[in-house]
Amino acid sequence: MNLNKRGYRDVVVWDAERSSAERCDILVEGDKISSILPVGTLKPGYAYEGKGNTALLPGFVNAHGHTAMTLLRGLGEELPLMEWLQKRIWPVENNLDGNLVKTGTTLGIMEMLSTGTTCFADMYFFMDSVAEAALETGMRCGLSRGIVGDSDGSKLRENLKFARDFNGKDGLINVQLGPHAPYTVPFELMKQIAEEAKESGLGVQLHWLEAASEWSISGFEGKMTPEQYLSDTGMIDVPNLLLAHCVWVNKESAEFYAKDNVTIAHNPKSNLKLGSGTAPVPAFLKAGASVALGTDGAASNNRLDIWDELRFAALIHKGVNNDPTLISSSEVLKMATVNGARALGFNDTGLIKEGYKADMVLIDLDKPHYVGWDLENLVGYLVYAGSSSDVKATVVAGKMLYKDGSFTGIDKDQVIAESKAARCKLIGR
Ligand SMILES: [Zn+2]
Repeated sequence: MNLNKRGYRDVVVWDAERSSAERCDILVEGDKISSILPVGTLKPGYAYEGKGNTALLPGFVNAHGHTAMTLLRGLGEELPLMEWLQKRIWPVENNLDGNLVKTGTTLGIMEMLSTGTTCFADMYFFMDSVAEAALETGMRCGLSRGIVGDSDGSKLRENLKFARDFNGKDGLINVQLGPHAPYTVPFELMKQIAEEAKESGLGVQLHWLEAASEWSISGFEGKMTPEQYLSDTGMIDVPNLLLAHCVWVNKESAEFYAKDNVTIAHNPKSNLKLGSGTAPVPAFLKAGASVALGTDGAASNNRLDIWDELRFAALIHKGVNNDPTLISSSEVLKMATVNGARALGFNDTGLIKEGYKADMVLIDLDKPHYVGWDLENLVGYLVYAGSSSDVKATVVAGKMLYKDGSFTGIDKDQVIAESKAARCKLIGR
């Protein structure tokens, strides 16, 4: 047996380019899907046995988050966004260091791998430590240094240095620039960041109109529309613009966001928990804008489980609009896979396709709540009846990093013990 090859026998494959699922064999060589074959082509014995009741999907992409906030979970529950940030989150974050961030990130990566996520977006600080956690665990990610204030430009310089050091590293990391939001970054600096992005070819992660108050605190009210701001700063023309939230974008402006270089990261659960509202996702989709899904940080969600986002995204817009036809299960799965991958600059992940990176999630369909699934209705079963407890295995770049409750490259007990100690050091309990 060639150790560089791994087969998946009789799996039920779905991705956003398929109108229905199909049973087939998959051959992975190195970090890529090399062949998609008729069922039974691969010999039994060395392949993963899907037995016709294991779904194989592209791994999920968590398109917005601050992973190390796993250490801040539970802080300041039931507070509005600005009060929560200013009183409970930012003071604690001031005490973070590289070691704490690495521990919290590794903890978050474990949670994401065990729930089928193979790639995550992150905007935080001590990003070298985030990158180290990703490289050591073998996880794919799009990373940006969160830039707040930055009167001397040092954070932008740090973000650019981080890009020089880590962009493209091991084929797992893409680096973006991370201006936090229009209300925390001065206009001129936002312009400069857009220039740097265009010059360097880096993408940008930006929080965009999460709470209603951002119209006034960002200085838009009576002066300019948010869309004018994106145009005037040049942000709208950067190579890859990932706008987190977009809750308070006017429906009428949805078409502005329908651009090949722009993706909206929809975080329905975090938006609900902070009482921020519901993003006009049906309007974005109708306009042809690209939408991905994110959890945001564990302190405002409180999970890094994309299955929750799948279900909330599929349900909430039907409910608030009194329209059950809005947002199909295949649309939310597309958001959680290929749309997120493209937004982070991974153009050969997110589909189950020959030549694409082997980033995959295997899902156990041999469970009571899947009785009745077939190739046509599988996606509805996954989104409305499935959950992350159905994840059997998670594969990143051809490597099975999680299988049947165990992590192949992470010492679970050690990371949990270190995380408990890190949390104690940070917040005293
Ligand atoms: Zn965020």
